[in-house]
Amino acid sequence: MRINSRNRELQERAQKVIPGGMYGHESVALLPADFPQYFARAEGAKLWDVDGNEYIDYMCAYGPNLFGYNHPSIEAAARAQAALGDTMTGPSEFMVRLAEDFVGMIDHADWAMFCKNGSDATSMAMVMARAHTGRRKILVAKGTYHGASVWSTPSPQGILPEDRAHIIYFAYDDLNSLHDAVKAADGDVAAVFATPFRHEVFQDQAEPPEAYAKGVRQICDEIDALLVVDEIRTGFRLARDCSWAQFGVKPDLSAWGKVLANGYPLSAVLGADRLRAAAQKIFVTGSFWFSAVPMAAGVETLRLIRETDYLERMIAISDRIRAGLAAQAAAHGFAMRQTGPSQMPQVLFADDPDMRYGYFWTEAAVRRGVYLHPYHNMFVTPALTDADVEKTLTVTDQAFEELKRSYSSIGPQTNAVVATRLGILAAA
Ligand code: PMP
Repeated sequence: MRINSRNRELQERAQKVIPGGMYGHESVALLPADFPQYFARAEGAKLWDVDGNEYIDYMCAYGPNLFGYNHPSIEAAARAQAALGDTMTGPSEFMVRLAEDFVGMIDHADWAMFCKNGSDATSMAMVMARAHTGRRKILVAKGTYHGASVWSTPSPQGILPEDRAHIIYFAYDDLNSLHDAVKAADGDVAAVFATPFRHEVFQDQAEPPEAYAKGVRQICDEIDALLVVDEIRTGFRLARDCSWAQFGVKPDLSAWGKVLANGYPLSAVLGADRLRAAAQKIFVTGSFWFSAVPMAAGVETLRLIRETDYLERMIAISDRIRAGLAAQAAAHGFAMRQTGPSQMPQVLFADDPDMRYGYFWTEAAVRRGVYLHPYHNMFVTPALTDADVEKTLTVTDQAFEELKRSYSSIGPQTNAVVATRLGILAAA
C-alpha cells in the first residue's frame, strides 16, 4: 500500500493557515486524488514526496529543472557564492558575467535585465514596449499564458476591466485575426506578445507554422510595433537561441525564466539595441532581483547549455518515450494524442471529452512512481537514465492495462472545476 498520511496531514493543516490549502499552478486541487501535494527532496530526474514515495518526475517543477535536481556543478557554483553572500546591498560580479554570457548566446539580444519570475519579465517587457513606442495597446493571443499579473492572469477575480483596457486579444496562428486586432488598436499598438508554440492547458499543443512567426514579425514591422517573444516555458528546451530564430525571426524583446538557473529564482528580459534607451528609463526592481546565488547558478547553467549535448539528449530521450507510449496505446487499443515537441509533451486521450481516462491513466502511473500530468504539458529532463526510461515505460504499460480493465466502470470527471473548464472549452 502506498502511504500518504504525512501528505494528508499537511493538507489538513494547510487548510487552516493557507487560503484554500494551496494556490497557483502547483496546487493539486485540479489533479487526481492520488497526486501528492508536498515533497521532501529531489535528485536528478527523481522526486520524493513527504511520505517517502519516489517518483520519476515529468514536470521538472513545471519547467525550472533542466539539468536534473541538485545538479553537482550548478549546486557547487551556488554553494560557493552562498558562502560569500547572496542578497547584498548590490549585486555580485556574476550579474555582469551572466548578462555577457546570455547576450552572447541569443542572436537578437544586445542587453539583458534580470528579475525573479516569468511574470516580472513579461510585465517588464510590456512597460518597456510602451515606454519605447509611446503607445498603449498590447496584442496577446487569446488563451496564451504570460503570467499572473493583473494584465495577464487567466482569472478575472479581483481584476478590473481597466487593468486590461489596453490588451487586445487575437487568435493564435491566425494572421487575419491579428490584422483585425491591429485595426481595432487604431495606430496605438505598442507590442505583440508571442508564445513560441501553443502550449495551453487542457488541450493539444500546436507548433507554429513558420509563416505565422514570419507574419507576426512582418505585421509588427509594418506598424512599427515591437515583437515580444515569451520564452519563459520554452527557453532552452527547444533551442540554444530564441526559439523563433529557427524561422529567421528576431524579436525586439524576449522574456525568459524557469530554466535559467536550473531551479534558482531568476528570470530575464533580453532586448535589441534600439530598446536600450526605453529599458533604461523605466523603473523596475525588486528586493531579491540582484541576489548573487541564482546568478552564479545561472552562469553555470548557461555554460552547460552551451557546452553539453543536453538538448540533443533530451530530445532523443523524449522521442524514445513518445514512441514507447504510442506503441503501448496502440497495443492496448487506445487512441492517444501526443502533441507539441516531445521534450515538452502534452499527452491526451482521444475520445475523452471530460478527461476521465487521462485522469485515471496518470493517477495509475503516479501510484506506481511515475509523475505524469493529465492536463498540463510535461517537461522532460536529460537527467533521465536508461533505467528511468525503462521503468517509466513499464509503469505506463501497467497503467494502460489498468485503464483497459476498468474502462467501462470509470465514471465522469468528478472535479467540478475541471468539468466546468472542459465544458467551457468544448463550447468555445
Ligand atoms: N509565460 C509563460 C509562457 C509561462 O509558461 C509562465 C509560467 N508558466 C509565465 C509566463 C509566468 O512565469 P512565472 O510563473 O515564473 O511568473
